[in-house]
Amino acid sequence: MKKYLALTLAIVLSLSLLAGCGAKTDDSTATDVAPTASGTVEAQPYDAAVGKTYTIGTDTTFAPFEFEDETGTHTGIDIQLLDAIATEMGFKVEWQVLGFTAAVSSLEAGQVDAVMAGMSITAERQEKYDFSNSYYDSTTGIAVAADSKVASLDDLKGQTVVAKTGTTGATYAESLVADYALNILYVEDSATMYTYVESGQAVACFEDYPIIQYEISRGNVSCKVITQSEESCPYGFAVMKGTNPELIAAFNEGLTRLKDSGEYDTLLASYFGA
Ligand code: GLN
Repeated sequence: MKKYLALTLAIVLSLSLLAGCGAKTDDSTATDVAPTASGTVEAQPYDAAVGKTYTIGTDTTFAPFEFEDETGTHTGIDIQLLDAIATEMGFKVEWQVLGFTAAVSSLEAGQVDAVMAGMSITAERQEKYDFSNSYYDSTTGIAVAADSKVASLDDLKGQTVVAKTGTTGATYAESLVADYALNILYVEDSATMYTYVESGQAVACFEDYPIIQYEISRGNVSCKVITQSEESCPYGFAVMKGTNPELIAAFNEGLTRLKDSGEYDTLLASYFGA
């Protein structure tokens, strides 16, 4: 029995390592405010966030999670979700539109308090950052030019591909180098990545599937997805490990409330449809 357990554990462990995803996808944290025997409301970890202002690093072109709309406003699911959570929980956010790697570097340098940028919760990242409960799930898609003859990973053997520095897409591309001899180019933002593929500078790009698919379906990008990673990764809101625990608690509580009220579903449906 013990042997069996150990084996199961080993399999589960290696599977999650393969996927590179963290295990923290649970959003069942107890959040109900518990009245004490005397009827007063107990203090909650998220109370300390009330009245505070936090600076948040985000990505540039990562629609529909963050992007500039026709009026020049930086908006999207990440922005609207965190703004709504802040309003609900009584804290303020100041956005800094930095790009993905720059947002993460700024977090590490203490220049922002948190990152909200469609950031995947991976086991490796969990060693450095504390993540909120997950608010979305995504695989990585591999996309080629709309008129490309490349239809499979095998067709990509020895080809030049493009990925965004520091992302799970880049990690996925790197994991395929040994078997497919990919030559990886790195860029800093998704828009540039798509341009590389459209212009033929790279045969394929590695991007979170819902993101590239959103751009394709809106006719913004002339590409097609040929395959996706087998495993999906959850998205989380991140702070440096051990810092701002009240902010993570407030995020989780706010997310639960917005899910309960239906506001979360309405926001997602406004981009992805019902
Ligand atoms: N989800 C991917 C990651 O965490 C990409 C995030 C992004 O490019 N904004 O690496």
